[in-house]
Amino acid sequence: MYIVTAKEMYEVDRYAMEDIGIVGSILMESAGRAIAERMKPLIGTTDRIIVLCGSGNNGGDGYVVARTLLNEGYDVAAVQVGRNLTADAAMHQQVYDRLGGEVMDVEADTFQAALKEADVIVDAMLGLGVRGKLKSPYKETVQAVNEADALVFAIDLPSGVPADDASDFSEAIFADHTFVIEAPKPSVFIQKTAAHYGKWHTVSIGLPVAYLGRQAGARIWTKQDVKRSFPNRQPFSHKGTHGKGFLIGGGAEMPGSVTMSSMAALRAGAGLLTVGTLRQVIPTVSAHLSEATFAVLEGENGVIVDSETLDVSAYDGIVVGMGMGRGEATAALTKRVLEQAEVPVLLDADGLHHIKSDLEILRNRQAPTILTPHPGEMAMLLDMKVPELLENPFELARKFAIVHQVHLVLKGTYTIITAPDGSQIVNTTGNPGLGKGGSGDVLSGILLAMQMQHENLMEAIANGVYVHGKAADVLVKEMHSQQDLLATDLMKGLAKVFRDISD
Ligand code: ADP
Ligand code: ADP
Ligand code: MG
Repeated sequence: MYIVTAKEMYEVDRYAMEDIGIVGSILMESAGRAIAERMKPLIGTTDRIIVLCGSGNNGGDGYVVARTLLNEGYDVAAVQVGRNLTADAAMHQQVYDRLGGEVMDVEADTFQAALKEADVIVDAMLGLGVRGKLKSPYKETVQAVNEADALVFAIDLPSGVPADDASDFSEAIFADHTFVIEAPKPSVFIQKTAAHYGKWHTVSIGLPVAYLGRQAGARIWTKQDVKRSFPNRQPFSHKGTHGKGFLIGGGAEMPGSVTMSSMAALRAGAGLLTVGTLRQVIPTVSAHLSEATFAVLEGENGVIVDSETLDVSAYDGIVVGMGMGRGEATAALTKRVLEQAEVPVLLDADGLHHIKSDLEILRNRQAPTILTPHPGEMAMLLDMKVPELLENPFELARKFAIVHQVHLVLKGTYTIITAPDGSQIVNTTGNPGLGKGGSGDVLSGILLAMQMQHENLMEAIANGVYVHGKAADVLVKEMHSQQDLLATDLMKGLAKVFRDISD
């Protein structure tokens, strides 16, 4: 499933109308009819329905919804918000009007009372065309809708919500359901705007989907994508075929993180795993995992430090950073790995801090680099505050991945994975049960294993992020709660997820 920005959607609209020849009023008809159908199971037959129509395409869709419901005997009134309707919207307003539909003026005294009595409000005021903060009369209307005690449906975007990011908006509709046209927009997956959408549903209106797929810079990774791209273990395969991983991390005060990463890497199918850590960390790891081998790294005061004798040549994939500490001597080791390793290197946690002052090192690498920051770590890398990052995560992630030529995994409720060419994949599995120390360590181990078992790195990362979240979902559904779930429990969840994938 694709995710499209406003610009991409306008291009798909243009193509459909100009190159293919589907006229705009027909697209509007298809949208309004499809949305009315989808609304019907969610509303009562005697509900009082108010449809708020803007002056653009969104308003035109609204008039088709109003007319369709009116025609089927529902109790409907439309409200015109804003003047100077586009030709297509005006045409559909007329059709509705000639069918006997009532159009209220937003300035009329009766409007406020009608809004209070409404059981259902359809917000067809502003869609993709919204720019900046709302002006009158939209602003006041949005406030009144948000105070009303009705079920609220929005068309394409809740009015006032921008399509691509969450910056530069204040007043916006809080919908219970939003019918996104053809594909969700990035703001569906951004914290500040997501709440405005309520539950979102995709409505197909007959736009050319193949063209939409070619235009879209981002997609959602679905179960079908996982099933299609997940590698099976071959009968004549062996531990060497499944990848030899090297996991560098751990410190006297943080032996657990590298332990969890190691367990996850082996549970996610790595053939062999060597843990590069301090001698004193080894008993902790081996207490939980007999299958790992060790490379003892040099340490000072309980943290790993740089060493010229470090050998990274024997592995198929390397992860650096969990529980390592942020000192300079430790950072030097991380940079040594990045400079010497000719295989994919994943940096997580402290490893991300180590490269902050030396980001050029990333572009100079021949093999891929994968960064897995949570929003705090990403904001650190970008020299900005977390709220600012979270207002525009898609664009900021895309720029960073292109400039530094990395595979960037920006973790969160919806993890955004960006390739060095700027293409993006969004993961929708996982739940707040993962909001506990250690979940990210488990992910880095899973990603190491996935990278070594896939041909295509984007597929490897997307599958890894998917199974990590899915393991949490399965556990919360069948055995644990979001409250008690531990990162180490994820290892048990993986078994069921992998079985489901290969079914
Ligand atoms: P389109 O017709 O481009 O698909 P919409 O249905 O969202 O888009 O309508 C866009 C209309 O909304 C434009 O006429 C524009 O003048 C108006 N508009 C855009 N931003 C605002 C705003 N912040 N406040 C009020 N009206 C706005
Ligand atoms: P740690 O460093 O403590 O191991 P991170 O913050 O690095 O943890 O990683 C947390 C992991 O949990 C990420 O993969 C993130 O996507 C996931 N996660 C956290 N909260 C949620 C949530 N509410 N919904 C889905 N996934 C979540
Ligand atoms: Mg972490």
